Amino acid sequence: MLCLGIESSCDETAMALVRDGVLLGERIASQVDMHAVFGGVVPELASREHLRWLYPLLDELLQEAGLAVSAIECVAVSRGPGLLGSLLVGLGFAKGFAYGRGIPLVGVNHLPAHLLVAGLEHKLVFPAIGLLVSGGHTHLYHMRSPVEVELIGRTLDDAAGEAFDKVAKLLNFPYPGGKHIDRLGKGTPPDHNLFPRPYLHNDNLDFSFSGLKTAVLQYVHKHAELVMPSMDAVLQPGFEPSTAMACLCSSFNWTVAETLRVKTERALDRYPDVRGLYVAGGAAANSVVRKVMEDVAARRNKTLLLPSPSLCTDNGAMIAFYGEILANAGLFHGLDLEAVPRGKPIPWDYGC
Ligand code: ATP
Ligand code: MG
Ligand code: FE
Repeated sequence: MLCLGIESSCDETAMALVRDGVLLGERIASQVDMHAVFGGVVPELASREHLRWLYPLLDELLQEAGLAVSAIECVAVSRGPGLLGSLLVGLGFAKGFAYGRGIPLVGVNHLPAHLLVAGLEHKLVFPAIGLLVSGGHTHLYHMRSPVEVELIGRTLDDAAGEAFDKVAKLLNFPYPGGKHIDRLGKGTPPDHNLFPRPYLHNDNLDFSFSGLKTAVLQYVHKHAELVMPSMDAVLQPGFEPSTAMACLCSSFNWTVAETLRVKTERALDRYPDVRGLYVAGGAAANSVVRKVMEDVAARRNKTLLLPSPSLCTDNGAMIAFYGEILANAGLFHGLDLEAVPRGKPIPWDYGC
């Protein structure tokens, strides 16, 4: 079924076409540069940008795929979690499109969509453990199938991506700073004792990253020379971090990855029958997180489903791919489909 996927939950307007699990084309309009000026996403500006981009992106996408609009058989849209205004823009567009063309509508939970996009590059494997490490969430799931996904662990405060971004902000890196911390730590061995690995001395599957953030804050207060003089300093061609900066970044990458590893392995211990390990979300683009999870999967003989870095952050392909799975399972929605913003549980009627 040719499925159009629409993603507008935060600061990326994205669309993609998927048919029979194969990506036929995708377009993305990132608002990152606009929001970077404010050091974070400004919801009102995000909604307006989504509205501005959805129509041109659809035209470009159809042209790129060489398909007529009439070929689209189903429209899938991110229904949450995310910013309410941004979600409503995508939902309004999707509903109008579905109604106008007389095709079914599928509301997609953005979170399992992050994990299942791995299916574009690998054969999906179940049962599995899913680790979602995105900008707003750090979740562990037990996944029996694409539509039976149970939350088994979550962060009590900051998400992993958020921790990266907050530490980057302390160092005066541009927003979102996770990728700069990743890059500047490369090639430098981590100091395993520089920062505490947070919230491991318990027997649960939850995370807490706020203590780690405070530890970095205290360290940076003592080493004020680590703070960049200007926000674009790390973007300058030929920029080389000081030894201390490279060590901070490398150690932070390692501390986050190691914390994620311990809880993920704990989840694998609890569900010994699982065959796969899904890792996704923006922080899964981190090179140290990727390496650590590759080692876990290899050592424990699990199939690793880790999307390419460009599919880890928000994209339209994940909505189109998961949307087609839900459509094939008959999980459609009416035009009364509601957006579910951050912090609200999403009803299970679209799978999980
Ligand atoms: P959610 O899906 O929870 O609603 P989101 O969609 O905003 O949140 P994503 O797009 O999945 O989040 O990921 C964005 C996050 O990923 C940002 O916090 C960003 O800093 C982080 N990130 C991206 N690349 C890297 C990297 N290489 N290393 C670490 N963090 C990274
Ligand atoms: Mg984003
Ligand atoms: Fe996301």
